[in-house]
Amino acid sequence: MDKIYRARPTSRLKIRSFANQIRKIVGLEKSTDFPILAVFEFLSAQGIFTFEILPKEDMENKCGETFPEERHILIREDIYEEAYKEIPFARTTLAHELYHLFFHGGEAISLCRTDSEIKARRAYEDPEWQANCFAGELLVPKDLVVGMSVEEVMKNCNVSVTMAKTQLEHYSRG
Ligand SMILES: [Zn+2]
Repeated sequence: MDKIYRARPTSRLKIRSFANQIRKIVGLEKSTDFPILAVFEFLSAQGIFTFEILPKEDMENKCGETFPEERHILIREDIYEEAYKEIPFARTTLAHELYHLFFHGGEAISLCRTDSEIKARRAYEDPEWQANCFAGELLVPKDLVVGMSVEEVMKNCNVSVTMAKTQLEHYSRG
């Protein structure tokens, strides 16, 4: 069985505000097409983390893996190549791993050990939910996609149909 983790609880609103801060820090709060690969490489060049590109056979079914304590990220070779080609799934993977790096160090994360602990875990305590939520909020900024269709969001933000739909659904609820 895979390890089941529980992270410090957070909300979509908090994650949205963090994503907006990042967009502001890099001066891209008005840009719909977030250059996640350039930002990823920039942050690493600043010494914030190190990363390694590993061949497919070393990563198996994992697209990326983050070790927050070591401030180290592994990205599967084909995913990294796809990020250069601006493929939405690869872009999402980089954003996803960055969230784990920023938020899942130290005591923010613990392992669920028993069935009851696993059952008691809420979605917002799931580190994978949090990282996916962050990727959506970073790549599809709420303020900039008001009134856009799913197709327009896909095109302007360069994200998958699933991500465009999910974000628009959340934003329509306020
Ligand atoms: Zn993850």
